[in-house]
Amino acid sequence: MKVLCVLYDDPSVPFSAVRDDLPSLPGYPGGQTLPTPSSVDFTPGHLLGSVSGELGLRRFLEAGGHTLVVTSSKDGADSVFDRELADADVVISQPFWPAYLTAGRFARAPRLKLALTAGIGSDHVDLDAAIAHGVTVAEVTYCNSISVAEHVVMSILNLVRNFVPAHQIVRDGGWNIADAVSRSYDVEGMHVGTVAAGRIGLAVLRRLAPFDVHLHYTDRHRLPAAVEEELGLTFHTSAAEMVPVCDVVTVNAPLHPETEGLFDDALISSMKRGAYLVNTARARIVDRDAVVRGLESGQLAGYAGDVWYPQPAPADHPWRTMPHHAMTPHISGSSLSAQARYAAGTREILESFFAGTPIREEYLIVDGGKLAGTGAHSYAVKS
Ligand code: NDP
Repeated sequence: MKVLCVLYDDPSVPFSAVRDDLPSLPGYPGGQTLPTPSSVDFTPGHLLGSVSGELGLRRFLEAGGHTLVVTSSKDGADSVFDRELADADVVISQPFWPAYLTAGRFARAPRLKLALTAGIGSDHVDLDAAIAHGVTVAEVTYCNSISVAEHVVMSILNLVRNFVPAHQIVRDGGWNIADAVSRSYDVEGMHVGTVAAGRIGLAVLRRLAPFDVHLHYTDRHRLPAAVEEELGLTFHTSAAEMVPVCDVVTVNAPLHPETEGLFDDALISSMKRGAYLVNTARARIVDRDAVVRGLESGQLAGYAGDVWYPQPAPADHPWRTMPHHAMTPHISGSSLSAQARYAAGTREILESFFAGTPIREEYLIVDGGKLAGTGAHSYAVKS
């Protein structure tokens, strides 16, 4: 079979690991096991997510008689992705460098059977089209949820404490303390709410609890009462109900028709003046220009996250230059630690697929012409 793999570009300087090992983890919170491929052909902690890393898949695939094509060229009709798609059986892509699998591209890929996300979040795949074409969509559920949760906590502290401007003062040779502290607060005592309390959202709540904040959440399904009690959570039936009482809001829901455009001018203006918004979920859950307006007017004191639309973001994307932001390129789920897990999980899914054995239920988003597994729980489709 032909496996077409789209990965981000290689680093501008050759990779050299700055640490010798990764911590070994017993499993994921809640008991889900880490990926269980038969073996791996890579060194955990090495750069696997860019083109030359090939997710450590080449030896395994070629030994099985398969063809692997790896490229970072993904956009436009003259891209390598578009050209190679015509006879591809499997497409592997990543949210960090998404190869958008649109309905048009599905129509031009008659052999496609599996669209595999080497990460979490398959909104770059048109799920309605996948359903219509009988293509299975799978992702490596949990592989980088904790990585993102750590980034969210970092971003909240970063914004509230005003870290980036203070750091810039040092780099610029300055020492104006008043400039640095004029926008700096403590997180302690604040009300922090998450839109969605799934794997990432709940991990964020758990990590924030020791900061002595008041924790809030909204989700389609309520958490067990014991978890609410343990963390002192306040449940809200909707984002509209939750955000007016929060000083900090973090977004941890998938992008699907229910969440697209959720944070528009109206919702942002219902937040407390000077609230902070952290979105590492997907850019299109917020209205791009409403965020800029919120920051410029002071309605929002800060915005952070690592998700943009489209990706890569153009040089003139307004979020690059808007005030009071702590944005990064899409990296939170692609730490070297996460890469080892999503590369192993990708191989596990491919091994099941080639052997004709079931792909783990928790990895499935679409299967058998309908939402399945994690997809059936966390996503919605238009049709
Ligand atoms: P999970 O599937 O564990 O959690 C998603 C949660 O969102 C579920 O609890 C789901 O609710 C909830 N949800 C879905 N729709 C709504 C809605 N309309 N309103 C409120 N809650 C809703 O996924 P993860 O926590 O692991 O990941 C969440 C998202 O984060 C991913 O889909 C992806 O977009 C993004 N992500 C970003 C990364 C990055 O690098 N920046 C990396 C990894 C993920 P329920 O299931 O109860 O219906």
